[in-house]
Amino acid sequence: MKEILTKNLNSSQTEAVLCTEGPLIIFAGAGTGKTRVITYRIAYLLSLGVAPQSVLAVTFTNKAASEMKKRISDLIPGTGANTWVSTFHSFCAHFLHAEASRISLNPDFLIYDFTDQKNVVKDCIRELNIDEKRFKLSTIADKISRAKDDLKSPSDMAAEAEYSGDFFGTTAAKIYGLYQKKLERANAVDFGDLIMLTVSALQQHSGLLEHYREKYKYIMVDEYQDTNHAQYIFIKLLAGKHRNICVVGDDDQSVYSWRGADINNILDFEKDYPNAKSVKLEQNYRSTPKILSTANQVVKHNNVRISKRLWTHNPDNGFVTVLKAVNETDEAIKIAELICPNAYGNKYKFSDFAVFYRTNAQSRTFEDAFREFRIPYTVVGTLRFYDRAEIKDIMAYLKLIHNPNDNVSFKRVINIPRRGIGKTSIETLEKFARFKNMSIWQSVPFAQKVGLTKGPVKALNSFTQFIKDFSALKNSGSVKLITEKVITDSGYLKELEVENTSESKIKIENIQELISAVDDFETRLSDKSLAGYLTQIALINDIDSPDESKGKVTLMTLHLAKGLEFDNVFICGLEEGLFPIGESAFNDKELEEERRLMYVGMTRARKRLYLCWSTERKVYGKTIWNMPSRFIAEAGFQDESAEMEQNRKQSFQNRLSQGFNRTIQNGGLGRGQNFRSFNEKPFKAEILHTNAQSYGYMPPGGEITKDERLDNPAGDLSPYKIGTAVSHPIFGRGQIIEKSGAGNDLKLVVLFETGQWKKLLARIANLTLI
Ligand code: ATP
Ligand code: MG
Repeated sequence: MKEILTKNLNSSQTEAVLCTEGPLIIFAGAGTGKTRVITYRIAYLLSLGVAPQSVLAVTFTNKAASEMKKRISDLIPGTGANTWVSTFHSFCAHFLHAEASRISLNPDFLIYDFTDQKNVVKDCIRELNIDEKRFKLSTIADKISRAKDDLKSPSDMAAEAEYSGDFFGTTAAKIYGLYQKKLERANAVDFGDLIMLTVSALQQHSGLLEHYREKYKYIMVDEYQDTNHAQYIFIKLLAGKHRNICVVGDDDQSVYSWRGADINNILDFEKDYPNAKSVKLEQNYRSTPKILSTANQVVKHNNVRISKRLWTHNPDNGFVTVLKAVNETDEAIKIAELICPNAYGNKYKFSDFAVFYRTNAQSRTFEDAFREFRIPYTVVGTLRFYDRAEIKDIMAYLKLIHNPNDNVSFKRVINIPRRGIGKTSIETLEKFARFKNMSIWQSVPFAQKVGLTKGPVKALNSFTQFIKDFSALKNSGSVKLITEKVITDSGYLKELEVENTSESKIKIENIQELISAVDDFETRLSDKSLAGYLTQIALINDIDSPDESKGKVTLMTLHLAKGLEFDNVFICGLEEGLFPIGESAFNDKELEEERRLMYVGMTRARKRLYLCWSTERKVYGKTIWNMPSRFIAEAGFQDESAEMEQNRKQSFQNRLSQGFNRTIQNGGLGRGQNFRSFNEKPFKAEILHTNAQSYGYMPPGGEITKDERLDNPAGDLSPYKIGTAVSHPIFGRGQIIEKSGAGNDLKLVVLFETGQWKKLLARIANLTLI
């Protein structure tokens, strides 16, 4: 084993791997092999005879966890699979299931995701007669989550608010209190509870703490800079006995402070563990020198950071460049045009490309463009799929079958499909239930007594009977069977079929997709019960989706990109107000976090990094006029930014002289920024070639031959198309990414492999097609 180590690790990495006993911190920049050290360290421990069950490794995303597991299994086939590598949430969910009886928790508990959580908060606000305008749903839901991240109960929150005379806090604490009661009644926990309940179980039951401390002799935490207080305490408790704790992280990659992450957890590690060994890693194995220096140039603008030395021996065979678009569709198409020839030309696989954006909503344009260009892609992260109403409905049925006292699910589907049970009937019943301290389900037999009319009473009874009829299947049948039965017997599918619109057809397709997903679950997992399925889904929903990125371009938010790497990375929407987002530019702390996010994004790239921005963008249906993000200039593209700015002004002037109906308003994305939104017909941007098929792009695996290229429908007979690879006697090989004019006047913008852009007059440029 030692041989394997020295062959695959540098001396600092080897030192960290061999230091198995006592606290160890690896504080190092991106791509220096921190995660690699963790996996090798686990493999090394197992090779020493340490039982896999006594090793615990925690990380932040399911994707990172499964990747790590795979690497360990590759290193130590067989035993490697038995180590506990998981996310914090997933570990705690298992812990609570296993120890439910000891900590008076019903083991059938449900896990509420953020949408469920908001629904409960909404109920609480209404019930407490609180002004919904002053106490915004998401602000309160967020405040509750942050309190849980800090291990604060409703009474802690109330006491703090009272101490500081904070009326908002006092009200929020009231809502929080009722929220907890409602969760208890529904036998549900939210994500914050998973960690908080685990911590309090360990703190209150010394036997439990002893047991788990003894069990996990070696603990490792990746991305430690992003742990919040609750996670920090959890790790501290578990590591309290053996103190064999290894944490790795990078302060420059701390991007979750909005979720309660506390960078001091990493900075204070040596205070917490005075005898801790510290290892520094400085060699980056991931990126080209150009990417590395550009990323460092950006992050250097942050004041609050520990400066690190970072170097690489990697060859300088890539580039960093700026890609400018006229609007968001153009941005997506330009990117698709760059991906296509590379991937179909077999230079890269689709999975070698990633597109990162700041907000989830940006994924849609890429999805559309990629579909058009027949580029296989996967959207990681938001689980758009499970967020869809029809999927949520079916899931609510399943949750209700599992636990009829789940009020949120009950209310969601009681009248879907329509059963003639009105809102008022449900509210009456709910009031009664609350008064009697029971669930809505339990109050159904009293429906008539509380004044509901015959119709709704009958409908309610047949609905509860419908759910009850699943009780036998629930315990012995397959989840797939239950799901199919729910979809057909509830009348849900029928209603969609009768509707027969394009929207309802998509819904039916999604429901069919859900059945395949359930089927997949049954074949893959050992726990095939309904409870097992629901837990699995709740955990996946939290942060990322299952790994399905093979052979597909990855679309994800920058936050989810942490820890991953790709040959080609596009960071999109680099515009002031979008990235840095909103008003963060006006707040030093927030701006520095945005900049760290930029650093995370940039350091994912191995070879080519594209910084993309668009002069216009539709935001909530309004066209916004953009300034390039300051991060573009910070990355060393000042001239380009200035040139772009000049072009922007020019094109703006042109547009004005073309006589747009312009009512210029201040506003747009942020206070005091140079944004203008236009009350005008959206500017029809010059989008070159939106029809990908016209280039003869082939489906995955296919190859393009020149003969297969069809002529551009506009009648342009020149051989120069967007995406065409060309060679220039001085600048070398490149690709056409923009063109304008025709005939003798045909101008081309060529992106050369060196990363340079050149605008060339085709007639005299002496280009050859390659
Ligand atoms: P991040 O900060 O982005 O999480 P990291 O420090 O965890 O990065 P890794 O993902 O472990 O870095 O490593 C980055 C890349 O470098 C990986 O592809 C890894 O396999 C490779 N690598 C790390 N160390 C070595 C080494 N000694 N020899 C060869 N490749 C290495
Ligand atoms: Mg890592």
